[in-house]
Amino acid sequence: MASVFAPAVRGVLGRSLSLSSNLDLLVGVRMGAGMVMGRVVSESIGYLTVCQDCGARLECWGVQALVGTSLQWDVAMTCSACGAAMFVCDDVPLAGLRDQLLSEHGAARLRVTSAQGRSVALMRVLRAELKLDLAEAKTALGRVLAGEFSGTLPEIELLARKLREAGISAVAARP
Ligand SMILES: [Zn+2]
Repeated sequence: MASVFAPAVRGVLGRSLSLSSNLDLLVGVRMGAGMVMGRVVSESIGYLTVCQDCGARLECWGVQALVGTSLQWDVAMTCSACGAAMFVCDDVPLAGLRDQLLSEHGAARLRVTSAQGRSVALMRVLRAELKLDLAEAKTALGRVLAGEFSGTLPEIELLARKLREAGISAVAARP
């Protein structure tokens, strides 16, 4: 299952950044560069694939991080046999990575505690953040009010931040 990521990773190697195996370092570098403010919320998964250089088992890390108000995907690979290491950063996940993150960590739910009389404001945030049309936003609103709107923790935390900015009490929570 993990090996399905390898072709996708190879496809975006032109965007890889540096040689390291420490994702905390990557986030730290970004923060040090003054690009982000506020708490970083992230979730990661480890998986195995095959090194394209030497054929050995390759350890990979996939991380989704909410940095300020932007979602980032980072993949880090380190080959224990030949030492090949790589980072890939993008704003969209590699194929299958998001599903794997959800299945490993479980979904987070959006809990809104001051929705009374705020449906319009709530729907405005949902439409803007999720790029929804009016009908889709109504469906999403129903799921939010029912406590059934879920996603990865960084995704839901981003929505909660945007809602709080709009004056609506919201948190990302695990069931
Ligand atoms: Zn290798």
